[in-house]
Amino acid sequence: MTFVRTVLGDIHPSDLGVCYAHEHLIIDPSFTTHETPDFELSDVELAVAELRDFRADGGQSLVDSMPCDSGRNVVKLAALAQRAGVHIIAPTGLHLAKYYDPGHWGNQYTEAELAGLFVADIETGIDTHDYNGPLIRRTPHRAGVIKIATDRAFTPREDRLFAAAAAAHRRTGAPILTHTEQGTLGLEQVSRLRDLGVDLSHVVLSHLDRKPEVAYHCAVLAGGVKVEYDSAFRWKPGQGNPTRDLVVALLPEFPDQIMLGMDAARRGYWRSHGGAPGMSYLLRDFSVELRRAGLNEADLRRIFVTTPAAAYSFNAPAPPPP
Ligand SMILES: [Zn+2]
Repeated sequence: MTFVRTVLGDIHPSDLGVCYAHEHLIIDPSFTTHETPDFELSDVELAVAELRDFRADGGQSLVDSMPCDSGRNVVKLAALAQRAGVHIIAPTGLHLAKYYDPGHWGNQYTEAELAGLFVADIETGIDTHDYNGPLIRRTPHRAGVIKIATDRAFTPREDRLFAAAAAAHRRTGAPILTHTEQGTLGLEQVSRLRDLGVDLSHVVLSHLDRKPEVAYHCAVLAGGVKVEYDSAFRWKPGQGNPTRDLVVALLPEFPDQIMLGMDAARRGYWRSHGGAPGMSYLLRDFSVELRRAGLNEADLRRIFVTTPAAAYSFNAPAPPPP
């Protein structure tokens, strides 16, 4: 039997429960927050408050999406999981180049060196210093997903990053979560990862609903990957809700490949920071909207429970207990 790797340990996929597929729970001060201060989500108390609401509304697990040295703090994620009583999957990998200073090691290390760092996060434990300095001090909290990203084109950096992620996936069985820039390059990501020998049933493409074209989504989903939509609360008055419309249009043909998340990487989206709509939005408002559009409880269970369990389980047997 396979497993899902959370910051507090490995669990059976069926224990993941109601899952948000792409979140930002902790973002510590970093190059990222220096450029965009509203990204800083470093307060554990406020995160606990936000996730207690999420839990009260039926939420059980979340996938954090801030990879190596971009404000990730696995010690805080572990404390948050413990205190809020939720499962959290922490990522290894690297984000877009723009979230790092130009001299960052991610722009310089070889594919094999990057893969080695990712594998150690997955197999041994994430560095308490988040790979931001010469000393590495590994925690017992291991990464359960490999996060990678493209901007508008594959550059040599992304070539190396995708190859390194694929190597780490082939070695460990860890699932892969990608960032797409405004939903672009989905087909290229799929073919690249397929060519690199990745099991596409354990690949999740994020933000694809920012390019809400049904034929494009059909082509991506036909490749066998899973997709994550997170713009449900972002559409402006007068735009309708293209995220809802995509789910309604695509779920009949691709019932086991669509997931939802908030990607709420700004304080202004969190109720505990005085913002809106808050992390419970998908479980409350948007679930009501999806039911109104014709989805039933089995559909919602697929989106929030069974598809995340399949996507975020490892393509590997569970290791023997320590
Ligand atoms: Zn994100």
